[in-house]
Amino acid sequence: MQRRTFLKRVSTASSLMALGALPAEAFYGAEELTRITIMHTNDMHSRIEPFPMDGTRYEGRGGVARRAAMITNIRKEAEHSLLLDAGDIFQGTPYFNLFGGEVEFKIMSKMGYDAATFGNHDFDGGIDGFERQMPYANFPFVISNYDFRNTILNEKTKEYLIFEKGGVKIGLTGVGIELKGMVPKSLYKETQYLDPIKNANRVAKMLKKELDCDYVICLSHLGFKYDEDKVSDHDLAAQSRDIDMIIGGHTHTFLDAPVVVKNKRKKPVIINQAGWAGIVLGRLDLVFERNKKNKCVTCQNQLIG
Ligand SMILES: [Zn+2]
Repeated sequence: MQRRTFLKRVSTASSLMALGALPAEAFYGAEELTRITIMHTNDMHSRIEPFPMDGTRYEGRGGVARRAAMITNIRKEAEHSLLLDAGDIFQGTPYFNLFGGEVEFKIMSKMGYDAATFGNHDFDGGIDGFERQMPYANFPFVISNYDFRNTILNEKTKEYLIFEKGGVKIGLTGVGIELKGMVPKSLYKETQYLDPIKNANRVAKMLKKELDCDYVICLSHLGFKYDEDKVSDHDLAAQSRDIDMIIGGHTHTFLDAPVVVKNKRKKPVIINQAGWAGIVLGRLDLVFERNKKNKCVTCQNQLIG
């Protein structure tokens, strides 16, 4: 979908703004608006350094130093921001094989990540290996469809989180992919996979109806969309009622602009994914009207780097 079409579909303001011609601030006094900038990554796969200069497709791209600088710059101009990751932090370079995830978690902590969810590769050091690295992560892990009760991760993850930014309440949950057939059971052990759509809907409803959230984001490692019969972000969006945005991973999908899918209430759900390996940083700017039930006015996507 073209960026222009995207803006047209999600915007609730005038047609001028829908065409992207003018920023939301042109229609409202700046003091009536709260802007929240969502930055996100997925499938970082232990890519601490940029890709080597070896003539391959992504040579010289990515790397945590460059990303950290971008994030710092965005935070300087962003009124409010969140930094999120949709899983598969681990596996892909010797940094993981040698240090088991410590480097990845320490760097993400320094960058100020607010939360992450689980990818299948985050079990590659075993569920015990993951737990051993958790003290290096100063951010929480959010997931609604893995039941960790009979594992070492019992009560060490969150079903949801709530962030208050400039008077707007953002609810966050997460969903993971079915591990059976993808990860050896010896690694995930007694983790029970639960229906992602059912559980994301259950938590999103609670966030909106009981916990008074204005906006609900779901981190997802289900994957963008499949030809075969396999649950994806598209399915989750179409079958949801209270989720406003899905930040995805797993399929390493690069998007020029977020995709919009109508939910069960015929309301738009924004789906975005930022490729993989930290080659790009996902960015979505949400503008909420203050004093008008904090409605999302416009969202713009920007893939950087
Ligand atoms: Zn994955």
